[in-house]
Amino acid sequence: MNCTTCQKALPDLLFDPAAPANAAARAHIATCPACAQELASFEATFSLLDTWEAPEVSHYFDQKLAVRLREEQAAPAAGWFERLKDRLLFNTGRQFRPALAGAMAIVLLAGGGSIGITTLLRPTQASVSATVNDLQILDNNEQALQQEDQLLQDDNPTDNDTPPS
Ligand SMILES: [Zn+2]
Repeated sequence: MNCTTCQKALPDLLFDPAAPANAAARAHIATCPACAQELASFEATFSLLDTWEAPEVSHYFDQKLAVRLREEQAAPAAGWFERLKDRLLFNTGRQFRPALAGAMAIVLLAGGGSIGITTLLRPTQASVSATVNDLQILDNNEQALQQEDQLLQDDNPTDNDTPPS
């Protein structure tokens, strides 16, 4: 055990010097004067604390407390601004959670409601089956090809007149 681990074990050693877990610390203190002095300093502090006595509470403490409570009860009610300031200063935020949840619910309702309204208001497209849709695409393609052919024929009319050799 080195001095650092011994310093960490000093409180345990103070409260329970005979514990077997403190054997290593005791062995180190027997050989290390610095740690032995630290332990002696702790023991002196604790023995001094043992002699300290808490001052007696005043005999009139209860009466004074009761008087102050009665004065506070009899005082005129604070204005709404004062109460709001106190509430904001000394709250834990717990009482704002329902309001926050309500606000989020309103946001959700408004968002979802607007999406629902837009889907309702959007003109519904005539439902066309996939087959009809494909046929329309093919028809459009065929028309485009025909127009292209016509354009090509208009560009060089002699090509089609001469038979392929
Ligand atoms: Zn040491």
